[in-house]
Amino acid sequence: MIKRFAKYYKPHLKLFILDMLCALTVSVLNLVYPRVAGNIIRVGEVNYVVIGAAVLLGIFVLKAALTYIINYWGHVVGVRIQGDMRRELFAHLQKLPYSYYDETKTGSVMSRLINDLFEISELAHHGPEDVFLSVVTIIGALVMIAFISPWLTLIMAVILPIIMFLATRLRLGMMKAFEVSREKTAEINSTVESAVSGIRVSKAYTAERHEKERFDEANEGLKEARRMQYAAISKFNTAMTFSMDFLYLAAFAAGGIFFTHNMISAADLTSYILYISMLITPIRTFTTIFEQIQDGVTGFKRFTETLAVEPEKESENPVKVDRLKGDIEFNNVTFKYEHGGSGRVVLNDLSFSVKAGQTRALVGPSGGGKTTICNLIPRFYEIEKGEITIDGINTKDISLYDLRRNIGIVAQDVFIFGGTVKENIAYGDFSATDEQIEEAAKLANIHEFITTLEKGYDTYVGERGVKLSGGQKQRIAIARAFLKNPPILILDEATSALDNVTEMQIQEALERLSVGRTTMIVAHRLSTVKNADEIIVISKDGVVERGTHESLMEKNGVYAELYNYQFRSL
Ligand code: ADP
Ligand code: MG
Repeated sequence: MIKRFAKYYKPHLKLFILDMLCALTVSVLNLVYPRVAGNIIRVGEVNYVVIGAAVLLGIFVLKAALTYIINYWGHVVGVRIQGDMRRELFAHLQKLPYSYYDETKTGSVMSRLINDLFEISELAHHGPEDVFLSVVTIIGALVMIAFISPWLTLIMAVILPIIMFLATRLRLGMMKAFEVSREKTAEINSTVESAVSGIRVSKAYTAERHEKERFDEANEGLKEARRMQYAAISKFNTAMTFSMDFLYLAAFAAGGIFFTHNMISAADLTSYILYISMLITPIRTFTTIFEQIQDGVTGFKRFTETLAVEPEKESENPVKVDRLKGDIEFNNVTFKYEHGGSGRVVLNDLSFSVKAGQTRALVGPSGGGKTTICNLIPRFYEIEKGEITIDGINTKDISLYDLRRNIGIVAQDVFIFGGTVKENIAYGDFSATDEQIEEAAKLANIHEFITTLEKGYDTYVGERGVKLSGGQKQRIAIARAFLKNPPILILDEATSALDNVTEMQIQEALERLSVGRTTMIVAHRLSTVKNADEIIVISKDGVVERGTHESLMEKNGVYAELYNYQFRSL
C-alpha cells in the first residue's frame, strides 16, 4: 500500500524533497541555537553577546523563511496530490456501471471524494514531515544533552518515554470521543438533508412537528457528543500541560542539583534547559501522528477500494461504427440483477427483433422487466446469456460511446440538471448552436413556453428542475432527444406520470420524434401503443403474447382484456 501511495508523490517529487530538506534544516537549526545561547553566557563578554545575538537573529530569520516554505509548499504538495487523486477517482466514478450506483449512496460517494481525500492529503505531507522533524529533534536534543552531561540525558531518557506513552493513551481516549462526535454529526447531517429535500412532502402532510422532533433528538445527541469531546480534550490538554511542567521541574531539579555540585556550568545549564523546552513540540506532534496516519490510511483504503470496482466493460477491439441503422435483435437473452432483491431471473431466454425504423411496444404489469429490456440495449447492465445485436453487430463489440451515441432515451422521470434551460437541452449535443437548440425545442412543443420565461433559454430551472412541471420536464427531455437525433429511440413510460391533456400534447411530440427511428415504447395507456408494428406483452413469466393490436384483439387474450378494461374505465 505504501508503494501504491508513493506513486502519487512522483509528479511532485521536487517540491516534496524541497519540503523535506527545509524540515531537516529547521530541525538542525533548532539544535544549534541552544549551543549558541550557551556560548554567549560562557564567554560573558559584551561584544560576544552582541555577535551571538546577531547570529541567533540570523538563525531565527532563516528558520522563519523555511517555516513559511514548509507551511506553504508542504501544503501545496498535499493539495496537488489530493487534486490528482480526486481527478482519478471522479474519472473512475464516471465509468462505473449502473449496478454500482444501485448499491451506493450519493452521500458516501461525496464523502469519499471530499473528506477522505482531505485526510489523505493531510497525511501525504504532514506525515513524513512531522515524523522526520520530531524524530530528528528528539534524538538530536538527547544527543546534544549527552554532550553536556550523560547523566542528565539518562534521567530524561527515562522520563520521556513515560510521558509519551501516557500522552498517546490519553489521546486515544480523546479520539474515541471525536469518533462519536463525528457519527453524531453525520446523523444530524442526514436528518437535515432528508428534512430539507423532503420539505415539500412534510409540509403537505403537516409533518413539521415530526421532523422537528427527529431533529431535536439528533441535536441532543450531537450536543452530548460534543460535550464528551470537550471533556476528553480538556483532560488531554490538562494532562499534557502538567506533564510538560513536570518535565521542566525534573529538568530544573536535576540540573539544579548538578549545578550546585559544580558538575555543570551555568552556560551548559542554559543550553540544557533550552534543549528540554525544545522537546515539547515534537512530543505533542508525536501524539497526533498516529491518528493522522490512521485517518489517512482508512481514507486511502476506501479510495483504492473504489478504484478497484470494475468499470463498465469495453470491447478490446471495438467494431468501428458511425451512425447505426437500428436493426435491433435480442437472441435468447437471459438476465438477472447482480444485487437483485429476490435474485430471480428477470429475463429468461428472451428473443425478439425490431427492423430499422419500426416501432415495438412493450406492455404488461409492473415489474415484468420492461425497463430492464430498455436498459439492456445501451448496455447499462451486462446480460448473462445470449446476445443483443444492432445491425447484426453484437453490442458488446461496439464501444459504449458509439453505442450510446446512437440511442435516445426518454423515461418516466426526467433528470434536470441544476442549470439553465439551454444547458439542459444541450445535453443532447454539446456542440449544438443556439438555433439548433431552439429548433429542437420547437419540435418538442416547448419553445413557446420557454419564451414566456423571464430570461427565456437562459432561465435557471432550479435543482432537479423544481421550477418546471412534469410535462415541461418531459418536453425538455424530448428536445434533448431531438437534438441528439439518434437512429434508435427508447420511450419508457415517458408519459405515464402525466395527466391526460398533457399526455396528448406530449404524445404529438413523441410521434414526431419517432418518425424514421427504431422505437421501443413502453406505455401503460394502451391507446398510445396501438399503432406499433408489434406489441409484446411481458409478465413475470416472460413473453405472454405478441402481435399487432388487431391480431391481439382478435386472439382475445391478456392484451385484449387489458385493453377492454382500460377502454371501459375511460
Ligand atoms: P417494469 O419496467 O416492467 O415495471 P423492471 O424492469 O423495472 O419492470 O423490473 C423487473 C424486475 O427487476 C423487478 O422485479 C424489479 O424488482 C427488478 N429490478 C429492477 N431494477 C433493478 C435493479 N436496479 N436492481 C435489482 N433489481 C431490479
Ligand atoms: Mg418500468
